[in-house]
Amino acid sequence: MSYASTLLGFLPGGRRAPGIAQLISKLESYLPPDHVDRIREAYEYADAAHKGQKRRSGEPYITHPVAVADVLADLRMDGATIAAAILHDVVEDTVASTQEIAERYGQEIADIVDGVTKLDQIQFKNRQEAQAESFRKMLLAMVRDIRVIMVKLADRVHNMRTLGAMPPAKRRLVARETLDIYAPIANRLGIHSIKLELEELGFKSLYPKRYRVIERELKRARGNQKEFLPKITDNLRRALERAGIDGKVEAREKHLFSVYAKMRRKKVALNEVIDVFGVRVVVSGVDECYRTLGLAHGLYRPMPGRFKDYIAIPRVNGYQSLHTTLFGPNGMPIEVQIRTAEMHEMAESGIAAHWTYKTGEKDGIARQERAREWLKNVAQLQEASAEEVLESVKVDLFPDKVYVFTPKGDIMRLPRGATCVDFAYAVHTDVGNRCVAAKVDRRLAPLRTVLRNGQTVEVITAKGAQPNPAWASFVVSAKARAAIRQYLKGLKRGEAVDLGARLLNQALEEFKLSVRSLPAGRLDQVAGTLGFQNGKELLEKIGLGERPAPLMARRLLPRDGEMPEVGPQMPLSIAGTEGLVVSYARCCFPLPPDAIVAYLSSGRGVVIHRDNCGNVAGFRKQPEKWIPAVWEKQPNRTFRAEIKVHVSNRMGVLAQVAAQIAAQETNIDHVNVTAEGDHTSMITLEIEVRDRSHLARVVRAIKVMPDVLRVERTLA
Ligand code: MN
Repeated sequence: MSYASTLLGFLPGGRRAPGIAQLISKLESYLPPDHVDRIREAYEYADAAHKGQKRRSGEPYITHPVAVADVLADLRMDGATIAAAILHDVVEDTVASTQEIAERYGQEIADIVDGVTKLDQIQFKNRQEAQAESFRKMLLAMVRDIRVIMVKLADRVHNMRTLGAMPPAKRRLVARETLDIYAPIANRLGIHSIKLELEELGFKSLYPKRYRVIERELKRARGNQKEFLPKITDNLRRALERAGIDGKVEAREKHLFSVYAKMRRKKVALNEVIDVFGVRVVVSGVDECYRTLGLAHGLYRPMPGRFKDYIAIPRVNGYQSLHTTLFGPNGMPIEVQIRTAEMHEMAESGIAAHWTYKTGEKDGIARQERAREWLKNVAQLQEASAEEVLESVKVDLFPDKVYVFTPKGDIMRLPRGATCVDFAYAVHTDVGNRCVAAKVDRRLAPLRTVLRNGQTVEVITAKGAQPNPAWASFVVSAKARAAIRQYLKGLKRGEAVDLGARLLNQALEEFKLSVRSLPAGRLDQVAGTLGFQNGKELLEKIGLGERPAPLMARRLLPRDGEMPEVGPQMPLSIAGTEGLVVSYARCCFPLPPDAIVAYLSSGRGVVIHRDNCGNVAGFRKQPEKWIPAVWEKQPNRTFRAEIKVHVSNRMGVLAQVAAQIAAQETNIDHVNVTAEGDHTSMITLEIEVRDRSHLARVVRAIKVMPDVLRVERTLA
């Protein structure tokens, strides 16, 4: 074999990749001139952007996007799709940005290119069948515009055509992926020609020996059939003519992969699949379909149990046809498909048929509408067979779900907007209740991080960890919401009672009394006069800040008029472990050992502020709501602090600051960047630290960085 023919061998049948001139003349045959001009422009732009890049086969890179566009031109796709195909790799592989494409070619084309780029970023990791199904759904869920999938499929077609240039291991991987993921998607969308080519090429690469055996046997069978096939088709044609039905009769080619798939599915021998004639009859109307069926059954005896009415009950992808098998000459089976011209178009190009350019259409909206219409029809046609189909179509194309991976590669389906906490609860309620941190794509991420399709999520749990009430504000799944609510309800009551007792003791201290030293039944009695069931409920209300402790203390005093000596108010001691009824103000972010005061907030318990916080000024207006507080001892937990970092605007400065903070064993909960001028910005960071000295260490570490101008701790 010469070198040149080896090279040509990369393209099946020695097919050469089409050039731009060939593509343009194909486009001119069905698109208006201004659309073709725009595509030519896109080509020049992409050609310049890919300059110097080469395919593995050694060809200039631009040959690839042109070939992809050519596949789509064969389906007569609209101008936007073709232009997007030409541009589909420029964002990923060159310096061009989506924004630049939007400015040059409009948002519609930029959105398709962006969709394709994003699809390329997720990788299929697991080979199980159920996983492949979920992965296909994940891909479909990611695209808002089905043309993204069209470009992706055409991209895969050309990559498969040129697969020979890849090393063998890679070749098998890509071929497997093609058979598991992309051919079924093409099938799901009814794009027959692409499905067929992906299957044939995938099969050939993955099982070259089986491919050759089937290829040889098919050739042999074709030789045998040469004798009979014209006779059968002629008989059918004449029968149609006599009945006055206008129809086209043609012999059907058998495809290697479908032969192979049928052998496996039905567990039959190769010759049982191959030694069958395939005939297709295309007529004008549904009526004619059934009449043709009758004619065929009159001509040759039908095989019992083989008739299928896919017109009345279409397949999931909308495929419609009548199928029957007849006993032909010599008992050779004849498989007959009967359908209308419309059904035939549907069977050949499926959803693509609705994206084809039709003269006189101004924009893509009409085509988008037709494509959606197709989906709706497919769903409606299925009504009889399964509601599930409707559901799957909805999931596929009206995405309200995100699909993410567990560390083991299993796929989890979550509602759109789901966070790491939703993921944790989806794994198991216990995992949710005990989660303390999460990794997204192997990097630590805040628990409230909203998950995107294709990410791998890992949840870190700790013994004795508890749900955080703040989670309730961002979880979206019903399961997480219910579990958190349930947990908080029980927790809050117990904690409120404890805090109420402490607040009451603190207030009673003024009178040299305590809850315990009160006469038996006194607490319940007073609670009763206030309309509460018992003393415990009163304590709960005090803990929740609904009843002020000092006032309640006075009510509890013995009635004999003997007022104890009044002493100075004792400060409330804060251990940091109080949980829900003690919270820390988001205006001044108090940290031990800051000087602090506590504010009694109705329904929320107490809120701790730094005593130099601007909001403490309210103290003078409502002195009964403010009580002195002190840190009990060094609490064994982290607190939130906020710092403002003023930086000069330099690429990557935010990432450097974040890395420096992480290096101090500090989590970042929230980041916000605001421009301060042309040259500087302010980064506001909410971080988790143990105490003030930990914070000081973080600040020192950032301060020494060259682009950092100033660092300050937030104080309202
Ligand atoms: Mn590509």
